[in-house]
Amino acid sequence: MLSENLEKVRKTVENACHVSGRDPGEVLVLAVSKMKPAEDIQALYDVGQRDFGENYVQEMQKKHEALPQDIRWHMIGHLQKNKVKYIAPYVTMIHSVDSGDLAAMIEKEAAKCGRTIDVLIEVNVAGEDTKYGTDPAGAAELAAYIRTLPHVKLRGLMTSAPYVADPEENRPVFRELRQLMIDLNRENDNNDSMDILSMGMSNDFAVAVEEGSTCVRVGTLIFGERDYGNKQQSV
Ligand SMILES: *Cc1c(COP(=O)(O)O)cnc(C)c1O
Repeated sequence: MLSENLEKVRKTVENACHVSGRDPGEVLVLAVSKMKPAEDIQALYDVGQRDFGENYVQEMQKKHEALPQDIRWHMIGHLQKNKVKYIAPYVTMIHSVDSGDLAAMIEKEAAKCGRTIDVLIEVNVAGEDTKYGTDPAGAAELAAYIRTLPHVKLRGLMTSAPYVADPEENRPVFRELRQLMIDLNRENDNNDSMDILSMGMSNDFAVAVEEGSTCVRVGTLIFGERDYGNKQQSV
């Protein structure tokens, strides 16, 4: 049962908060529904889940149209500039901003819609070639630029840690992202501090919460394995 899976994830978050002296209310469980059918999302919606993460614009678009309008959609996948316009009217947060060009496009489309869009900077902490994201040094420059954009609000940082057998191996990655946010907040003299750390996936979210995550992005543990085999991934 999907709702039971979600409940288990919540319990794990609560335990991780307990051991690290944190308030579970600070941690959002984002249900990553990519490649899963609308019925699965509806089932979780029916037990109160409202925040869902998607990777592909077309897929998010279809689900947004088919499902209740008060769902909060989070774009967590790599986003092409020319697709920003499709999600700008409704997206709750874009977790994957990794260039000034993309931020500028979000500004343009958000302004057209008369709204401000919350964003996170995606940081490739571990420096993996296969991952998107700016390096930690580039994050400072990007943060300064985003802060000049009136319709884009910088809320925090996001990372996808490497896939590892033992989640403990990712603890330094999470720690580094948290420290980076602290450092960037210190450098910024305005009062609009970043407050969101989007880190932790199915295999390592407990460790991420212990290290300060405020948003865990959990797919497989809630929805089951994704079948990449018989479906062409449309971006
Ligand atoms: C797919 C995905 C997730 C969820 O991964 P699981 O291992 O299934 O929990 C989280 N974050 C991003 C960026 C993803 O693409």
